[in-house]
Amino acid sequence: MMLDFDRLVFAPGVAMVANTVFVNAGLDDAIVLSGAEDIAIIPGTPLFDLVGRVYENDNERGGNGDDLAEFGGRQCYRSWRKGRGNAEYIANVQAMGHGSVFEHASMAFQLTGVSRSLTHELIRHRVGTAYSQESQRYVDAKDIRFVVPPLIANSYDPEASEGVAWKLMMKFRESCQRALDDYIEIQPMLKELCEQAHAAADAGDVKLATSAQKRANEAARAVLPNATETRLLFTVNLRQMFHMLTLRGGEPADLEIRRLAVALLDNCRDYAPNFFAALEEQVGNDGLAEIRSANLARF
Ligand SMILES: Cc1cc2nc3c(=O)[nH]c(=O)nc-3n(C[C@H](O)[C@H](O)[C@H](O)COP(=O)(O)OP(=O)(O)OC[C@H]3O[C@@H](n4cnc5c(N)ncnc54)[C@H](O)[C@@H]3O)c2cc1C
Repeated sequence: MMLDFDRLVFAPGVAMVANTVFVNAGLDDAIVLSGAEDIAIIPGTPLFDLVGRVYENDNERGGNGDDLAEFGGRQCYRSWRKGRGNAEYIANVQAMGHGSVFEHASMAFQLTGVSRSLTHELIRHRVGTAYSQESQRYVDAKDIRFVVPPLIANSYDPEASEGVAWKLMMKFRESCQRALDDYIEIQPMLKELCEQAHAAADAGDVKLATSAQKRANEAARAVLPNATETRLLFTVNLRQMFHMLTLRGGEPADLEIRRLAVALLDNCRDYAPNFFAALEEQVGNDGLAEIRSANLARF
């Protein structure tokens, strides 16, 4: 049997669900605490400009990742009165390699349509990150989807019914369906096995009874492929995101995580456009989108 097309995923889902901005009242307090309230009202000072951007939309919270990084950086030298505009300021701090300034601001992304093999690579990025990933032990996989490897997806023509790409797509669908069939077949058997073991050990224990399903799922998932879709909340600060996009957006990276890196960069630009201006999206030698970083000091 062939897996239904609606169970195939051809691109990741990326949504920025949260990011760090200023609490405006808190910024006011911070300026007073820093003894900089006189400077904050002088037009043309960096602090005046920063406060203006934070209050731009007249909300209780405002500003973006670039603003928070500048606020952090200017703490270091009390440089509230004189200096570069935000874009030049950020570029200069990047060039100096003063990376900790970019750890104050974080973004949280909902990611869907990514494979378990992708997340195995993603979670290797340990510093400045947080991950909350869907559990294959608690969530039953019988309705799961599968991520088509980009090498197959990019060559596949839905109108064609022959050729290597078509053949590979058919093979992929067959293989996923087989795995799914096996999962669905062995899952209840595993549960039964577990319940028998539990009954023999301690009949009537409610905790043991409820964990039988979890035990069955955790064993049954062994037959699912790397392509199995997963979902997660992924939080990352600006510094790590830059590092990650540089490593995972380039030609040596796996194509699926490279595609995710490009999609993440698009989202990042809305939140910290000046910081991420140092990363360029371009077409690689293989004809696919890739990320290149401008010639910066490593931070
Ligand atoms: C193209 C590619 C191929 C890869 N292939 C493989 C592979 O075949 N096998 C494999 O196992 N992995 C592989 N990796 C994963 C790689 O080795 C890293 O684990 C991954 O890229 C995370 O990078 P990181 O350690 O810099 O990130 P993080 O863990 O987030 O660390 C960020 C930075 O913090 C510093 N840091 C973190 N921890 C320490 C520490 N303990 N001591 C000192 N400094 C620290 C380092 O400067 C580091 O760069 C590959 C990665 C890429 C991009």
